Amino acid sequence: MSAPPLFFFDLDDTLVDHHAAEEDAHRETHASHASLFSGVAFDDWLAAYRRNNLRLWHEYGKGEIDRPTLATRRFALPLADLGLDIAGGAAVSAFYIGAYNRNWRLIEGAEGVLAHAAELGVVGILSNGFRQTQRAKIARFGLDRWARHVILSEDVGAMKPSRAIFDAAWKAAGGEVRRRVYVGDSFATDVVGAKEAGWFPIFFDRHGKGAPEPVVFVTRLADLKPLF
Ligand SMILES: [Mg+2]
Repeated sequence: MSAPPLFFFDLDDTLVDHHAAEEDAHRETHASHASLFSGVAFDDWLAAYRRNNLRLWHEYGKGEIDRPTLATRRFALPLADLGLDIAGGAAVSAFYIGAYNRNWRLIEGAEGVLAHAAELGVVGILSNGFRQTQRAKIARFGLDRWARHVILSEDVGAMKPSRAIFDAAWKAAGGEVRRRVYVGDSFATDVVGAKEAGWFPIFFDRHGKGAPEPVVFVTRLADLKPLF
């Protein structure tokens, strides 16, 4: 008899609604710093932030910049792009982080699917993202009621889609030949990474955007239950 299956989940935008928390936090930040953002519409600020943040995460993923640099530049660069005062970046960053933390919400069905997976096998969370932030999200929602393993890129020293982080998750759960399922909302990092590391990927396509290649997908977390 083989070992019980592994059901590992991405965290941001799979279990926790990062995208909405980010947008809500930016909306509060923009509204609370009227003189700094003078003349710049909220949508333009959010677009500039997301554009720069995405590029910086790519650089961070390739090891070209460190975490403090990412944390500073994700505010300094969009402020500069929009011709705003970059001296306000540190204060805006601190305010944003507080607002972001206040706006975390679970995605509908997250607790139910984790509970179901924990009855069938071993549950884990496997995430890129800042260690302190991700651990705080897991604690806030008590996701460790089900997740026996939390594998974070900062601890492993490798980020999805790298095979190394999926291998680290497998080893942390005891290795052995067993079914390994990974659920995530990013085709490029979650689906591709999991597949290349020998896991069975399930794409969480919440907004029905579709995938570039055929893949098993769900649009609601509750729909994972029969697949497990
Ligand atoms: Mg995600």
